[in-house]
Amino acid sequence: MALIYCPDCGKEVSESANTCPNCAYPINRLYGNLISKQNNQLVIAGYIIVFMSLFIFPVLLMISGIVIGIINISKNAVGHGIVQIILSVVCGLVGAFIGILSTLL
Ligand SMILES: [Zn+2]
Repeated sequence: MALIYCPDCGKEVSESANTCPNCAYPINRLYGNLISKQNNQLVIAGYIIVFMSLFIFPVLLMISGIVIGIINISKNAVGHGIVQIILSVVCGLVGAFIGILSTLL
């Protein structure tokens, strides 16, 4: 159980506490916001990787996109995760197809 510093009064508080015992600042809400913010970044990263797979390293980025999709599902971003897995496969295949075409032409 880690200790964090209360952003309001600066006292050490257990991160599992609901509120700061000193000033009643809602610690849990702050910590939850932090997690969901990190999760948002992962969702955005997933879409960027899926998009990039159309242009470079389609197979590699397709696998990365699927992995990030699975991670997002495990972190409760189920909708984004499923969309990313489907988009990864579609974009990866399209990207690979474009890559094969461009080497043939
Ligand atoms: Zn406090």
